Amino acid sequence: MRTEKLKETVAKLEVEITERKKAEEELRAIHERLKEQVTEQTKALQETIDQLNVQLEERQLVSEALHESEEQFRSLVANLPGAVYRFRIDSEWTLEYISEMIEEITGFPPSFFIRNRVRSYRSIIHPDDLEKVDRAIQEGLDPMKSIHVEYRIIDANNQIRWFIEKGQAIFSELGQPLWLDGSIFDDSERKHAEDALQEANKELQRLAIMDGLTQIPNRRRFDEHLANEWNRMKRDRKPISLILCDIDYFKLYNDNYGHQEGDGCLQAVARAIHQVVKRSSDLAARYGGEEFALILPDTDMPGAIYIAEKTRKIIAELKIPHGYSKVDRHVTLSLGVAGRISFQDSLPEDLIKEADNAMYQAKKQGRNCVFPGNPGI
Ligand code: GH3
Ligand code: MG
Ligand code: MG
Repeated sequence: MRTEKLKETVAKLEVEITERKKAEEELRAIHERLKEQVTEQTKALQETIDQLNVQLEERQLVSEALHESEEQFRSLVANLPGAVYRFRIDSEWTLEYISEMIEEITGFPPSFFIRNRVRSYRSIIHPDDLEKVDRAIQEGLDPMKSIHVEYRIIDANNQIRWFIEKGQAIFSELGQPLWLDGSIFDDSERKHAEDALQEANKELQRLAIMDGLTQIPNRRRFDEHLANEWNRMKRDRKPISLILCDIDYFKLYNDNYGHQEGDGCLQAVARAIHQVVKRSSDLAARYGGEEFALILPDTDMPGAIYIAEKTRKIIAELKIPHGYSKVDRHVTLSLGVAGRISFQDSLPEDLIKEADNAMYQAKKQGRNCVFPGNPGI
């Protein structure tokens, strides 16, 4: 009985042992699988870490290159004689970037203008030039064109400066204008030099046609004006007349009162003769020493004789004392008049000759008078 029980127990134990062994084996297999999985995952993780490290290194390099190129840009921009900018093409024309040089050329720091924080760049443009600038920018917003405009600004010290701006619009792939990139240079020095040169040229031109002593048009201006008016009147079939005036006994005036007094007398006579003519096409000029000429376009002989007589009277009424004149106690004029109605083949020189002859006739007739040279041929 006991043996029976023992056998039974042994058999149970054997079964248990077998089951445990099986379980142990299963556990070992699970363990092995887990170990394999862990090894695989560790390997994958390491690979990911390696990849990340490579990316990190690359990023570092890119960032360093970016920094370097930013430094390069800053240094290049700092050495430019003007300011560079980028506007966003929006309704506000937001200024995204403008280099430091803007402060040197306007007196306002970049921070004033960037993102239009304190004021817009447009607000410092001279009001009279705004339309021109706006037009240039509108026309320049074309992929085939660029912007080039000169205008004035009012700087921080309320001084006017001349700027040159050059720019180019940048477009999206769809052709939408995004940015306006460009540069602004202070051109004031050149502009002022140019203005001064222009002024000097104008003055030179004025001097070239003005008589230095009397400050009325000179012989050169006379010749030029006569040629122009002669052609104009000939074309328009209108008359033209010429008066030549000569101061009587002026040599005696000079010899007795001195050259300086003589100059003063010439100036006074010139001033008075200059005031006789009123029309814009009329011209009073100093023809020579003490001789003056009046060109009268669109004026016939009777009209010219009237003007000559008026001139004679005006000079007589100046009552410049001339104690050595043989015709009067004051400075007087002898005047010769010539006119043209039909020009045919005649030249301006012919008219001058006729007026000159008439003037000598006036001298011959006793001076201080007007002599009409021809009845207006
Ligand atoms: P007539 O009545 O015949 O015209 O006699 P006149 O003495 O006026 O004429 P003449 O041609 O003999 O003399 C002109 C004088 O004008 C000679 C010169 O002394 C003087 N004269 C010419 N140009 C100037 C000038 O620029 N300044 C001065 N002070 N005198 C001048
Ligand atoms: Mg003379
Ligand atoms: Mg004279």
